[in-house]
Amino acid sequence: THFGFTTVNETEKVRKVAQVFDSVASRYNLMNDLMSMGMHRLWKRFAIEASGAREGDRVLDIAGGTADLTRLFLDKVGDGGQVWLTDINNSMLSIGRDRLLNEGKEVPVAQCNAEKLPFPDNYFDRACVAFGLRNMTHKDLALKEMYRVLSPGGSLSVLEFSKVWKPLQPFYDAYSFKALPVMGKLVAGDDSSYRYLAESIRMHPAQEELKEMMQQAGFERVEYFNLAAGVVALHRGYKF
Ligand code: SAM
Repeated sequence: THFGFTTVNETEKVRKVAQVFDSVASRYNLMNDLMSMGMHRLWKRFAIEASGAREGDRVLDIAGGTADLTRLFLDKVGDGGQVWLTDINNSMLSIGRDRLLNEGKEVPVAQCNAEKLPFPDNYFDRACVAFGLRNMTHKDLALKEMYRVLSPGGSLSVLEFSKVWKPLQPFYDAYSFKALPVMGKLVAGDDSSYRYLAESIRMHPAQEELKEMMQQAGFERVEYFNLAAGVVALHRGYKF
């Protein structure tokens, strides 16, 4: 840009991510079930349990999209707690909010970029980002923001695609680069978004690298749990 802050590539990525999620929003939940053969539900449950969220906690769901994690967190924190549903994309957020309203649940919602969170320091007990970090342009900034809004003793959970166990890599590549776009085309009428998905998974930092990035942002006691042989990993870190 004229201001010299973002390069053309970065702007390109932001545009692409917006376009992808506008395009997939209406079929998003169905595609998740198909592509992961239902496993994403288990991974999300695992993330909620590992987050340690308790009755009365204030929770931030970042890149919360269609609100899968928000719904699960609501059950954990009860009436005394609070869960914020946030996402940069209005199409995804609308589906998430409507879905909750249909279930008789209302949560505070904010459309925001994770790289610049509109919350005060030390506000939340738990923060989570599921399958969102890899879409962010400045992951280091986003992780710092997540750290900033957590209160001391609070934890961040990052659920994300990761590096699969090596012997399985060829099968996984075949699945994600060949089968996924075909499924995307058949079910959602959109193969390019699912090509982007496979590509963004391949580019995302592996387990140890993400752990280091979280430590760089200030998180302590960072550890990760591999799910489905590393297809997905849950990273958790604390702010003290
Ligand atoms: N967390 C939900 C889930 O697990 O089902 C949605 C995940 S979806 C694959 C990724 C979400 O990240 C999209 O809704 C997208 O709009 C959001 N996203 C991408 N970049 C973002 C950013 N910089 N800040 C906040 N959200 C972002």
